Amino acid sequence: MQYPLPIAHLIDAYMKLPGIGEKTATRLAFYTMDMPQEDVEDFSKALIQVKKDIHQCPICGNITEKDICDICSNPNRDQTTIMVVEQPKDVMAFEDMGEYSGLYHVLHGVLSPMDGIGPEEINIKSLITRLQKHDEVKEVILALNSTPEGESTAMYISKLIKPAGIKVTRLAAGLSVGSDIEYANSITLKRAVQGRTTL
Ligand SMILES: [Zn+2]
Repeated sequence: MQYPLPIAHLIDAYMKLPGIGEKTATRLAFYTMDMPQEDVEDFSKALIQVKKDIHQCPICGNITEKDICDICSNPNRDQTTIMVVEQPKDVMAFEDMGEYSGLYHVLHGVLSPMDGIGPEEINIKSLITRLQKHDEVKEVILALNSTPEGESTAMYISKLIKPAGIKVTRLAAGLSVGSDIEYANSITLKRAVQGRTTL
């Protein structure tokens, strides 16, 4: 039996979310139908609002609802250090750690030739331009995950910026191979930052 079209559409919509298969999507769709009208309206508004109000900071690529994100616009942050991360969630993880006071640059991914992701597809060019414009930057910390893609991305970026005389470091090997920065605890992250090594 086919579901009525509006339900089928909702199931399809839920299936676009990561980790949600047809079974879960169907369960969520039926759950949604039983929700109070007001809750469903709040939910749909929240979806639209997040797309409307959140954008990437033009300087660092982090997500923000302001023109320039809070970190880039804070003059008290250490302007001589930029930490390069894969995702906005990594910024949150390092901020929760509370020990890092420099700036960030969010790549929004890593190089992955197999998936067709080259340097143009992630935020590398803007990092280079940023470094050319701001010669006060003395150190770039590559805080990428220890996956093969993370490693090769770190190597690629390091080769690009080292000739400019900027110190390039990477996190100490406190994070286990393949572990995600977003899931690492504060102590592990703190150790990884403190024990960073020069590339
Ligand atoms: Zn920013």
